[in-house]
Formats: sequence, C-alpha cells, structure tokens
Amino acid sequence: MHVSGRCPSCLQPVRGEVDSSEATLHCTACNWSRPVAAGDVTDNRPQRCLMCGCDDLWRQKDFPQKLGVGLVAAGALLSTIAYYNYWHKTAIAVLLFFALIDLLLFLYMSDVLVCYRCGAAHRKANLVDEHPAFDLETAERYRQESIRLAESKQRPPASQ
Ligand SMILES: [Zn+2]
Ligand SMILES: [Zn+2]
Repeated sequence: MHVSGRCPSCLQPVRGEVDSSEATLHCTACNWSRPVAAGDVTDNRPQRCLMCGCDDLWRQKDFPQKLGVGLVAAGALLSTIAYYNYWHKTAIAVLLFFALIDLLLFLYMSDVLVCYRCGAAHRKANLVDEHPAFDLETAERYRQESIRLAESKQRPPASQ
C-alpha cells in the first residue's frame, strides 16, 4: 500500500510504501518517523491512518479534482459554442461524450482512503466495501478539533 501525506512535525510531504506491519513512515526533512503498529494494517488494508493514527478514514475515487473540473468546463464550453451556432445535435453529442468520459474514469479509477484528521492518502490498499464515504459531520468534528488545537498553542501559558 502506498501512503502519502504531510509530516505531522514539519509539514513536508512524506511518502512511504507499507507492505507489512514492520514498515516505518519516515520524514527525510526533519527525521520524524512513525512505525506501523501490528494492528494498523490487516491484509494490506489500513485499520487507521498510518500517518497520525486517526481511526476515521473516508473512501473516495482517486480522481484528480482539477481534471474533473476541467472536463466539466470543457464540455460546457464546447456545447455552448455548438448551441450558439445552432448545431443542436452536436451540442448534445458533446455533452454525452464528456459524460461518458466522466463515467469511464469513475469506473476505472481506483479508490483511495483519506484521513479526516491529517489528510493522508492510502493508495493501492486492499479495500472492502465497508469503508464509509465522506461524511461532512465527521469532517466538521475534525476541523473544530484542529482549530481548538491551534488556539491552545497560540495562547500563552496560564502560569505567567
Ligand atoms: Zn518532517
Ligand atoms: Zn491521519
């Protein structure tokens, strides 16, 4: 399984290949490392985030968002040009063509597991259907948590 995310200590990109529970994720920039614990990976499937140990991961298509947005924009633009020139059949064909590309990409893209807390992506894992899709409530919970964490770091110590 391929893990990529940001180092929790220096925020530089960290990538690692985890094929067994003996692997270790290591940051070359600041020497941070996190060994993969015995229960973290079962059958090449992450039980929790291998970067930060968070239990909540969501599953999504490993689809570059910019490519998706670009396809939609290109389809809309081309069909608008066709409509403008009264090529109605062409306009519909263009929309269908881009919808088909979208569908094919969606079908053939592999899935990736993303951590709610640190955003680390776990690719080429042996996934099963039980992994939940993105949940806004869970994401909000982690967002609030990181805000609280940042605030408590900024506050000066109470003893002074
Ligand atoms: Zn680092
Ligand atoms: Zn994480």
